[in-house]
Amino acid sequence: MAEILLAVERLKKFFTQKRGFPNPETVTVRALDEISFTVNRGEAFGLVGESGCGKSTAGRCVLRLIEPDSGGVTYAGEDVLEAGKERLRLLRRKMQIVFQDPYASLNPRRMIGKALAEPMQVHGLGDSAEIDARVEALLAEVGLPPDARWRFPHEFSGGQRQRIGIARALTVSPELVVADEPVSALDVSIQSQILLLLRGLQDKHGLSYIFISHDLGVVRWFCQSIAVMYLGRIVETGPVPAIFDDPLHPYTRMLRESSPVPDPEVRVAPARIAGEVPSAVNPPAGCHFHTRCPHVMDKCRQAYPEWRMVGQGRGVACHLHGA
Ligand code: SF4
Repeated sequence: MAEILLAVERLKKFFTQKRGFPNPETVTVRALDEISFTVNRGEAFGLVGESGCGKSTAGRCVLRLIEPDSGGVTYAGEDVLEAGKERLRLLRRKMQIVFQDPYASLNPRRMIGKALAEPMQVHGLGDSAEIDARVEALLAEVGLPPDARWRFPHEFSGGQRQRIGIARALTVSPELVVADEPVSALDVSIQSQILLLLRGLQDKHGLSYIFISHDLGVVRWFCQSIAVMYLGRIVETGPVPAIFDDPLHPYTRMLRESSPVPDPEVRVAPARIAGEVPSAVNPPAGCHFHTRCPHVMDKCRQAYPEWRMVGQGRGVACHLHGA
């Protein structure tokens, strides 16, 4: 039986924003609307959906980089949302994040060696000789030359910067890494190198990932199980083979069909997903997907479908799979 490392329970986060000109109105963005999922130790769990579905907010709320409004996050049995400052500092050693744009998270005036040493100094992980040796080992582990430590962020390519971002996450030996669109800003050839690096680190260190992506093809290759998000809610979840062989939710099906097939012999252009994502300020009543769904029924416009478990680790929220 797999060990649950992270459990997220009915996590909710709404933002208020001022919108409009010249008379701005205060609006509420329903970024996360009571999502629940679990991540097993050693697995890569994918959070997938179109831009604005709330997946990055979910990753940040798990780490409390954004404070959620309500819900629960339990890490290895410990309540993350109740943790005080010191406890949270210790929990952050166990849970780290890799950003889409590591350049934005690196101080442009700080040499890479110093940027990698800093988290270890903050957490008191060794004396200066030990930290020095660890910086050298980390650079080698992520495929960067030893002299990278004396260089500044602007001296690196996008792929190299992502390697630095990964090395920085690894400095404190985490167990869980939230990888937020870690390859989507990179060229395809570089993407595969970074994915292979992340996979190698997973095998070597027994890492677990929350892998956030809009690219179902990448998630299919990288993850063992996934949750599909739409407008702040999870609409389907399950093991990757089952979800790809037999997607139950029409949105998952559309995402799958719009994802390129990684086979040079297959020349069929991927289908586009019909319509635009509605605003998270004012999501459609009933099933939020009903404005784009080819199977819409009357009840879809009236009531949000209940969440149903439909088999081994599989769940779906769709009236097609109701009682
Ligand atoms: Fe489509 Fe209705 Fe299912 Fe929503 S509940 S996905 S509108 S069939």
